[in-house]
Amino acid sequence: MKLLWNEEIETLSAGALTRLESERLQEQLPYNFASSSFYRARFEAAGVKPEEIRSREDLPRLPFMEKSELASSQLDGSLIGVNQCAALEDIVRVQATGGTTGRPMRIALTRRDIADYNEMGARALWAAGCRPGDIVFECMNYNLYAGGLSDHMAFETLGAATIPFGVGNTRNLLEMMTQIDQDVAMWSTPSYAVRLAEVAAQMEINPRDVGLRKGFFSGEAGMQVAGYRERIEDTWGLRSGDLYGAGELGMHCGECEQRDGVHYGATGFVLTELINPETTEPVPFTDGASGEFVYTSIRRQASPLMRMRSHDLMQVFTEACACGRSTFRFRILGRSDDMFIVKGVNVFPLAVQATITGSQPRLTGEFQIILDRPLPIDYAPRILVEVARDVPKHGHAEIIAETEAAIAKNHNFTCAIELVEQGTIATEKKTRRLIRAYLEES
Ligand SMILES: [Zn+2]
Repeated sequence: MKLLWNEEIETLSAGALTRLESERLQEQLPYNFASSSFYRARFEAAGVKPEEIRSREDLPRLPFMEKSELASSQLDGSLIGVNQCAALEDIVRVQATGGTTGRPMRIALTRRDIADYNEMGARALWAAGCRPGDIVFECMNYNLYAGGLSDHMAFETLGAATIPFGVGNTRNLLEMMTQIDQDVAMWSTPSYAVRLAEVAAQMEINPRDVGLRKGFFSGEAGMQVAGYRERIEDTWGLRSGDLYGAGELGMHCGECEQRDGVHYGATGFVLTELINPETTEPVPFTDGASGEFVYTSIRRQASPLMRMRSHDLMQVFTEACACGRSTFRFRILGRSDDMFIVKGVNVFPLAVQATITGSQPRLTGEFQIILDRPLPIDYAPRILVEVARDVPKHGHAEIIAETEAAIAKNHNFTCAIELVEQGTIATEKKTRRLIRAYLEES
């Protein structure tokens, strides 16, 4: 069996990659200009002609775009807003990007856009260990958002036997997995694998007897937190693969067997820049560099993006990987939207997670940070933390004191830990780690 899904593209030399990106950029930008008055206006405002942008180095001459401006442009009643570049007759699917903040942004795909989504997804899933012959329960939400249907199509493209299970019906899922007398795999958020184990316990099923041997996880960054994935793998006796996607690009990045960051899988489809989120200056792609990803479509018909800010902060790795792929790898540092500042200290929920999973098994590792009042955060934010069922009540005060001390020591801020019952935080959907409670009461 082949080693990589697309060996030619995934092992491109740096020079060949630059040529491919430049070639496609020179096709995409004149297309955007010709097809959309919004893009035409952007070029004109910047005083740039599309044919003057020939390579990645020229891109900073163009302004950034924000997801929020595209979403707002749809309020006028248009299908997908100002960046629609394909005729309606060529559009065959409309989805929206999710996200925990802001309103959903509708995106459209042509047949070729869908084929490209599938190709990126198959590269990522292959890297993460999925193979034809795998029986995959697809447990993402089949709705407006890309995680259900689009990812399902990527599994089919790769050749896995894919079961469109969706979310909910957790007991039925366990029954069906158990009833099938072969190893199975699942595609879900990592917190759903935690939730599933809770339900298995209620049904008096030992997770290890279910035959779930591969877990492909995405939608949350917890997999990179020490302790979290090990717990999921131990509970089920499975091997997990970490994947990354963005609603507007599809699932496109997967971790290889080296487990040394997630490989970029959108080569030839999306040109990704790295910028300093504060100054917006380009950051060179050198090993270990960090910054925010900015996306430019270089082969997209219906809803192309042009320098769209992701607000995802990443660290990139460019040294050769032992798996043979030449694509860069990265890990998520956090979302700039999720970052909050307590008395001058920048805090990422993902970093806090590492401290909380460090207190397993007394704590389950599940948590939520609650910001009760708007900025400035000059108070001790509450952190809800699940305490394991078998910890007696008289031990709670000690756990609270220890966890507050560990957070103060590791992250330099004071918090107020509140213990909640095991099984109350992880949900079937994406578990939110940061709740801005002051925005939600109204
Ligand atoms: Zn690799």
